[in-house]
Formats: sequence, structure tokens, C-alpha cells
Amino acid sequence: MDRERKRSMGNKYSRGIVVLLVVIFSACKETPKNKVPLVKVEIAAVEEPEDVYEFGYNLNDFVVKRDTVRSGDSFGEILERNKVSYPEIFNIAETAKATFDIRRIQLGKPYTLLCSKDSLETPKCFIYQPNLEEYVVIDFNDSIQAYTKKKPITYVEKTATGVINSSISETLLDKGLSPRLAYKLADEIYAWTIDFRRLQKGDRFKVIYTDKYIDDTIYTGIHDIKAAYFEHNKEPFYAFQFETDAEKGIVDYFNEDAKNLRRAFLKAPVQFSRISSRYNLKRRIAVYGFKVRPHKGTDFAAPIGTPIMATSNGTVTKSERRGGNGNYVKIRHNATYETQYLHMSKRNVKVGQFVKQGDVIGWVGMTGNTGGPHVCYRFWVNGKQVDPFKQKLPEAKPISDSLKVEYLDFIKPIKAQLDGIQFEAKPEDFEEPQGETIEPNENLIS
Ligand SMILES: [Zn+2]
Repeated sequence: MDRERKRSMGNKYSRGIVVLLVVIFSACKETPKNKVPLVKVEIAAVEEPEDVYEFGYNLNDFVVKRDTVRSGDSFGEILERNKVSYPEIFNIAETAKATFDIRRIQLGKPYTLLCSKDSLETPKCFIYQPNLEEYVVIDFNDSIQAYTKKKPITYVEKTATGVINSSISETLLDKGLSPRLAYKLADEIYAWTIDFRRLQKGDRFKVIYTDKYIDDTIYTGIHDIKAAYFEHNKEPFYAFQFETDAEKGIVDYFNEDAKNLRRAFLKAPVQFSRISSRYNLKRRIAVYGFKVRPHKGTDFAAPIGTPIMATSNGTVTKSERRGGNGNYVKIRHNATYETQYLHMSKRNVKVGQFVKQGDVIGWVGMTGNTGGPHVCYRFWVNGKQVDPFKQKLPEAKPISDSLKVEYLDFIKPIKAQLDGIQFEAKPEDFEEPQGETIEPNENLIS
């Protein structure tokens, strides 16, 4: 509101200048030599102060002193330096205490002093900014008042499109878009439906997202993704953000048929890894004379120390170091499903501990029988090891029937908006699509 007011005041002044100039010009038409009054009037008009509002004050009413808390500074010292008496400082601090403990001011944080516009420049108000969003006002102009306020936050809706050439991060970088978009797409939205390690050249996406600004001016990054369309292997994947529980603030992504995009299991226990060896019952290994050595796990190669996540909620049933498994963890998710994670450098959970999907249960290592750093991920269904990529995994909490109608109504205009966004056609975006992106590594033993 303050900003709008400021803008309209500004306009009024500039309009005033234009009117005055026109008047002077027409008045001077017949005597062009006389140009002095024109200049004078212009200066007079510009010098009219514009109202500048910040922290709820018109800054023109004060001498404004801005600084940051320096080493050795305290609230008392700052005020003392600005000629406030010690008893008064004590009084201010005592009264403000209930709202803001003045000992909490931190080195390097900005503060503003609003001082009287006379020759004394007596401080009237101390404003401290503990972070970008909040500010604390201690006003001691008449009575002492202290309160904390938040700066107005604005969300600006934006859209983006991209075509994958090699990786999504590279595509975003090329377009000057935030890498956070990739994280959000890969981890928050499509982690269960699209394997971002296997993106194909020519895969493409559109997103409608919001950027967050504080006070209209300070950009703090991408807030969230409202809707997305991802075309993987020519197959479309829609995602729409929808709040299923306003009270608890539960927000999820669903597709155009109201199906939850989240699955009960993550696609991989490590982020941005590469599958080095798939589940393969007929695997033959050179070091064993090409004898059949079935591989009942999926190997995800990742640097040592990469966090390993529980792919679903469950209770830890094993956490130990044993033989070829090395350091490993096994989790029971329900009566049907168990998962196991091998060759960790270090385990992070104990038997009996309940873990949530995405919790870090250990770190990638090379313990046990392994030719390189990776996690061997084993997926058990009813006590048998199976290929998780061939399973139809259960959906996470589906949308309730009562909300479904509301949801479909809600996404209608958003889907139309998404469909209306055109891909930017670049010739190099439409080269021959590349096939397999995975190099199977048969040398890993696990
Ligand atoms: Zn393995």
C-alpha cells in the first residue's frame, strides 16, 4: 500500500512539473531570451520531497541513520553513541523486553535509527532486521512501544519451458533458470514417475511456478511449482499442485486424472545417481568365469558419502555389518514390502527405529563385496527379492472422492494455461533422439 501511495505521489509531482513547464513555455514564447524563470521553477518542483515509507514510517519526517551491528556493539552502545542517556536506554530496554530482548541483536545485522530532524538528531526509533522478512521496531518517540512486523511478501507467477539435450540442469542453466526448478521437478514432483537419470534427448517440459519477493524488491528464489508438464519418451506427465488438507497444510501433486504422483516408494535410494547394474537373474561375471551369478539388487553408483534414503516409511529390522553385504540396513514397510541397502560406509539408524520416506539411513561406501562405491538396493515382496522397476508400486494417499470433483474443477484453467504455453523451438533441440543413456557395469559384484 505504502509503495502505491508513494508512486502516485511521485506521479502527481511529475505531472506538476509538466504543467508548470508548459505554462512557462507559453508565457515565454514571445520573449525567448528570458529563460531564467524556467530553470528556477523546475528546481522548486523537483525539491518537493516525495513520501518514502519504510517500516511503516514516512522517512522524510526523520534523519535516517542506517548501519549494521558491529563487533562489540550492543543496543545500549548504539543508542549511547547517538546521544541517548543511560537511564533512558535502561528504561527502553526494560519496556521493550516483553516483545524483544535487546541482547538478541546479532553482529552484522542491519539496523536503522530514525532521528529528529533538528540539529540534535535525537533518536526516536530503533529498527532491527534479524532477517530479510522480519523487522523489530522499538519506538521511543513518546511512549515506548516495541513490536515485530513482517515485510510484505509477493509471489510472482512465471512460466518456463525447456528441451533436454543432456541433462535437466544443463537445460535450465542454458536458459538462465534456477537449478532449484530441477530439484523440485526431480525430487518433489516426478521422483516417483520419471527416472531423471534416464531422461532422453528431446524430453521436454513446461512449468508454471512462483518466484518469491520480499517488499516487492528482494528476490529470494523460487517459491514453488504450481503445475508442470513433462514429456518423457513422448509420454506426457501432468502435475498439478493441490492442497488436500488446508488445516494441516498438506499439499501434493496429482495428475490430470487426480492420481497422486507420489508413490509409496521412491524410485531410488540416492539422488542423482547412475544405475550401474540392474536386477538380473541371468547375470554372468567375468571374474567368476562367466558363470551365472544372479544379481538380485539394483546398484546405484554414487560417490562415497552420498546420503542413502529410506525409499518408504517403515521400521528398521537390520542394521549391521556382515560379510559381502558390508554395512547394511533392512527396513520393513508393511506386511508385504521390505527394502535393503548394502555396502554403506556408515549406518545412520538402529534396529527398531521408525524411518520416514527420504530419511537418511546411511551413506554410500564400499564395505563388503564391491568393486566400486555404490549402494545395492534390494526390494523384497512377500519375502522374495524382485526387481523394483518391474513392480506396480502402491500409490501414496489418493485424493478423496469428495475432493476429486473440486480438484478437477480447480485444475481446468491451469491445464488450459499449461497447454497454451508454447515450446521455444531451437533447431538443435530436435536432433536425433539418443537411445540408452545407461552404461551397464558388469564388473560390480554385489
Ligand atoms: Zn548389487
